[in-house]
Amino acid sequence: MSENLLRDALLSPDVFPVTWELVPGRGARETAQENILKWAGQAAEGGNVQAITLTDNPGGTPAMSADFMAGEILKLGIEPMVHFTCKDKNRNQIESQLYALDRTGVKNILVMSGDYPVSGYQGRPAPVFDLDPVHVLQLISDMNKGLKYRGIKGDIIHQSSHFFAGAVVSPFKATEAEQMAQYYKLKKKIAAGAQFIITQLGYDARKFHEVLLFVKQNGFNIPLIGNIYILPFGAAKMMNRNELPGSVVTDELLADLDKERSDSDKGESARILRAARMYAIMKGMGFSGVHIGGHNIKYEQVEKIISQGEALVPSWPDLVKYFVYPIKDGFYYYEHDPATGLNKEIPVQRQNRQLDARVELIYGFSRFFHKLMFEPGKKLYAVMKGLSGKIEGTKLGNIFHKLEHLSKVMLFNCKDCGDCALIDVAYVCPMSQCPKNQRNGACGGSFNGWCEVYPGKKQCVYVRAYARLKKHGEEAQLQNNMVPPCNWDLNQTSSWMNYYLGKDHTSKK
Ligand code: SF4
Repeated sequence: MSENLLRDALLSPDVFPVTWELVPGRGARETAQENILKWAGQAAEGGNVQAITLTDNPGGTPAMSADFMAGEILKLGIEPMVHFTCKDKNRNQIESQLYALDRTGVKNILVMSGDYPVSGYQGRPAPVFDLDPVHVLQLISDMNKGLKYRGIKGDIIHQSSHFFAGAVVSPFKATEAEQMAQYYKLKKKIAAGAQFIITQLGYDARKFHEVLLFVKQNGFNIPLIGNIYILPFGAAKMMNRNELPGSVVTDELLADLDKERSDSDKGESARILRAARMYAIMKGMGFSGVHIGGHNIKYEQVEKIISQGEALVPSWPDLVKYFVYPIKDGFYYYEHDPATGLNKEIPVQRQNRQLDARVELIYGFSRFFHKLMFEPGKKLYAVMKGLSGKIEGTKLGNIFHKLEHLSKVMLFNCKDCGDCALIDVAYVCPMSQCPKNQRNGACGGSFNGWCEVYPGKKQCVYVRAYARLKKHGEEAQLQNNMVPPCNWDLNQTSSWMNYYLGKDHTSKK
């Protein structure tokens, strides 16, 4: 018997699998939970959907646990896929949740940063973001090999888990910096062990084609799943206003949806047709499968999309014209191909494009200071290393730490984590400047260069970092090795001494 039906289907050239996204909703015995079980049961019986995917506190609001619902769905005879976010739990809770999923028999996991927590019982909850998706994917890879760690009596190695873990990428970013940050992070996710990729939500065929080409050109042999969201006008209006992070609906698409509202069925058949056309385009283009979502979608509607979509596959190139909704002045990674409406396999020239963020003087100063103080082989490096060894743990060491912290608060708004990642993110501190503490690249929530959490007020740290590095032709550094999670053993200690004494992640590179 096959170990994982979804994985087998995704890897088979003869199957075009469909996953269907359901939202567990807030509550334990409410309509949302009953509906999920009803629809999952219908999907199990119908046989056209390979997996039910379950969102994890979407929109940053509380909901029934996706893990628990996954166990229930498994009993109905269909594979669940759990959306696994990093927003509400620290690394120990993440590990313990993975043990529970493994024990329950849930194998498919979609790892993502998660929406910033917005509301909860008696106010906004604390955002956790102890690990980012790259870390979680690495943890899952390690668990799949048999997690090894040091116990009191020596090394312990667990039995292997059999997770099939995937990640998300958004090709729908407006600026070069955001888009490149997405693609650089995609590379890190794949290096950390992502076994499939699902795209974010958007309606621009050229962008779907872009991510497909990017994956192919980089030699990644990994299933890519296209996201089809059945879009009603209300949700589209929210996406257009950027109220659902990461989902892109342009003014032109919103206007088209508005017209469809006057149809006799209030636009329902137009919505299904749009989804079916997307299905056909994805299959025709070469995606490995599709992920269908939408508020309160019935199983019959999913079946309709599949059957209409299948009928349209042979004519998919003629359908591209229905998905020409570019972001105004938006960045494309490849040159436009007017013959198909999609892309040529030629990346655009990026060197001379204008930077997406201002590069402040502090960046030049930080580079200079780093070269002077922290580069092994330089005179000051040897002096500081010697000094650190002598003063660590002494009164003088405490004064040194206080002075270091004071200067770093003034320059970088330092949080004194002691495991400094300034060098990894072009001297923009991910612990103080990124509300999700992303150490390995941007989350999917940025919009027009702005941070998901502070739209119009703060640029995403990776937009700033990309601009800084690009000024020196070094932007590709952002795709380098995984930056490990912050080691809380070092919290509130001198990051400089930790570096010189070989304790932090940068000195261990
Ligand atoms: S700074 Fe960037 S990566 Fe961090 S939360 Fe904001 S948009 Fe996401």
